[in-house]
Amino acid sequence: MNHFGYKQDQLFCEETSVEEVARAVGTPFYLYSCRTLQHHFRVFDSAFAEVPHITCFAVKANSNTAILRLFVREGGGMDLVSGGELYRALKAGVDPAKVVYSGVGKRDDEIDYALQTGILMFNVESEQELERINARAQRLGIRAGVGLRVNPDVDPQTHPHISTGLRENKFGIDGEGSLAAYRRAAGMKHLDVKGVSCHIGSQVTKISPFIDALARLKELVRQLRSGGIAIRYLDLGGGLGITYNQETPPPPADYARAIIGAAREMECTFIFEPGRVIVGNAGILVSRVLYTKENGGKKFIIVDAGMNDLIRPSLYGSFQHIQPVTRRERAEITADVVGPICESGDFLAKGRTIPAVVRDDLLAVMSAGAYGFSMSSNYNSRPRVPEVLVRDDGFTVIRKRESYDDLIHGEEIPDFLQR
Ligand SMILES: *Cc1c(COP(=O)(O)O)cnc(C)c1O
Repeated sequence: MNHFGYKQDQLFCEETSVEEVARAVGTPFYLYSCRTLQHHFRVFDSAFAEVPHITCFAVKANSNTAILRLFVREGGGMDLVSGGELYRALKAGVDPAKVVYSGVGKRDDEIDYALQTGILMFNVESEQELERINARAQRLGIRAGVGLRVNPDVDPQTHPHISTGLRENKFGIDGEGSLAAYRRAAGMKHLDVKGVSCHIGSQVTKISPFIDALARLKELVRQLRSGGIAIRYLDLGGGLGITYNQETPPPPADYARAIIGAAREMECTFIFEPGRVIVGNAGILVSRVLYTKENGGKKFIIVDAGMNDLIRPSLYGSFQHIQPVTRRERAEITADVVGPICESGDFLAKGRTIPAVVRDDLLAVMSAGAYGFSMSSNYNSRPRVPEVLVRDDGFTVIRKRESYDDLIHGEEIPDFLQR
């Protein structure tokens, strides 16, 4: 369920006309629906109401501080993968006791920052990282909460680039090595071994990989507890998929039902790290048609948003539904929807059949709320686009369009080139 739909022939986000926002802020821009964000968070979080849990929103999916604040207001925690994300989460007012920090490459300064903040735990991805965190915590005279991110070796049956729970991935510690790693961790004075975690991949559209992963983790927790290591948190990661096209991912309630039986008897607090399932269908990217042309019998629609604004189609070949902001009686055409970037890989859709468009028409790229703006860049020296949050019939620019000055912020021409 989301709050994007047509009224007469105009696309609306809640009670706000998308075209009106375009007139006010120019194109391209990201547009998010507050009601949809809230709804998705509540549906997910309440599905697990029966068991102690923390819903830690995966900040990398959408890192805008206003969006993060919205989840903080809903009682959410955060899942981070960098010091920069911790900074954002704190700016948004998150309770550090609801923060977990994942990622294979944590630097000392990032570890220190998280330690000083007092986060719940690090999801540790290697034995060397355990030693680093122990050493940094010792320096600060504190104990660090840790869990190990184990690799349950389950195939999430998703795109290889977003599959993370197989043995040969760079993530986590493999199943066999994890017991030894836990024993070492338990012997380190400045670590408080609290949890077990995993994250098997993203855009997972079946429940079975999660069930398999939980079964492996459950067995590990049993072994650890019988070895005297008091595991109190079980972090199942994120990864629940959404509908971009024809996928039929399980609703959070089904996912929860499959997990809760096993969860109840484990006597621990569950942590979930949803990203895409909360924000994905709560945002769109709005772009204007610049030109249309035909090359070698192939039709192209050239729009003012490119792969620097939304990289998912170029990076993963992923499908994003594209629809007109104003519906008109037009014959359908099949065309590539491409951006202005000087790369052949710069496209939003290939061979897409949509109603014909003309210059200045607005197109909405749907399901762009996750890994959209947060993966955007300044490539081709394109200022990053604004982010707009709609609530009912009003909207707020929650990140303004970058200026040309923003593009060169921090750059300096050295003295020897001044002459
Ligand atoms: C990316 C990531 C998530 C969120 O994944 P989604 O597919 O967006 O739910 C959660 N946990 C970790 C460790 C991640 O790297």
